[in-house]
Amino acid sequence: MEIGELVVASGNEGKIREIEKLFKGVRIIPMREAGFEEEIEETGSSFRENALIKAKAVSRSLGRPALADDSGLCVDFLGGAPGIYSARFSGEGEKANRELLLHRMKDATDRRAHFECAVCLYFPDGRMIFGVGRTDGHILEEERGRRGFGYDSLFYSDDLKKSFGEALAREKNRVSHRARALKDLKERMALIK
Ligand code: IMP
Repeated sequence: MEIGELVVASGNEGKIREIEKLFKGVRIIPMREAGFEEEIEETGSSFRENALIKAKAVSRSLGRPALADDSGLCVDFLGGAPGIYSARFSGEGEKANRELLLHRMKDATDRRAHFECAVCLYFPDGRMIFGVGRTDGHILEEERGRRGFGYDSLFYSDDLKKSFGEALAREKNRVSHRARALKDLKERMALIK
C-alpha cells in the first residue's frame, strides 16, 4: 500500500521525527498543522482502543488518512499498572509519576516491566490497520540518567543493558516499543494491495 501523506494525531516533535524516519518519502503532517484543533478524550480500555479513538477522530474530521499511537509502562508486580494510565498515574506530572512508581515498588522482588505501544492508521472510508510493539526490562531502585522523558530513567532495558535515561535517542529508537509498533504497521501495510 502506497500513501503520499499522513496526518499524525500528535504534536510531539520526537514522535513526528521518529515517524518521518520510518516512513521515508511520505509527507508527515502534525494534526494541528492540518487544521485539527479539538481535544480528544482517551476513553478506551486498551492501548489499541485509544490509538483507534485518536486516529479515527482526526481522520473523520479532516477526511484524510491519520496515524495515532498510544503507549505506556506495564509493571508485572503491579498487575500491569500503570498501563494506559501511565501519563496520569499520580495526577501530578511525570516526576510525581516516577516517585509514585518507586514507592509502589518499595517491597517488590519481581521488578520486570515493559513499555507497550499500539499504533493505528485510519482511513476516511473506515479501513484501519494496527501495529503493536513492546520492549522489555525492569524497574530500577533509583533513577539512572537524565535523557528521555516519562519513566525512562527508571527503566533498565534488556536490549540496551542500560536505562533508557542513559541511552542516546538513536539507541532507544532502535529498540523502543514505538519504533517496533511502527515497523509492525509498516509490514502490515506492505501486505495490503
Ligand atoms: P503517550 O502514549 O505518548 O501519551 O504516553 C503515555 C505515557 O506513557 C507518557 O506520559 C509516559 O508517562 C509513558 N511513556 C510512554 N512511552 C514512554 C517512553 O518511551 N519512555 C518513558 N515513558 C513513556
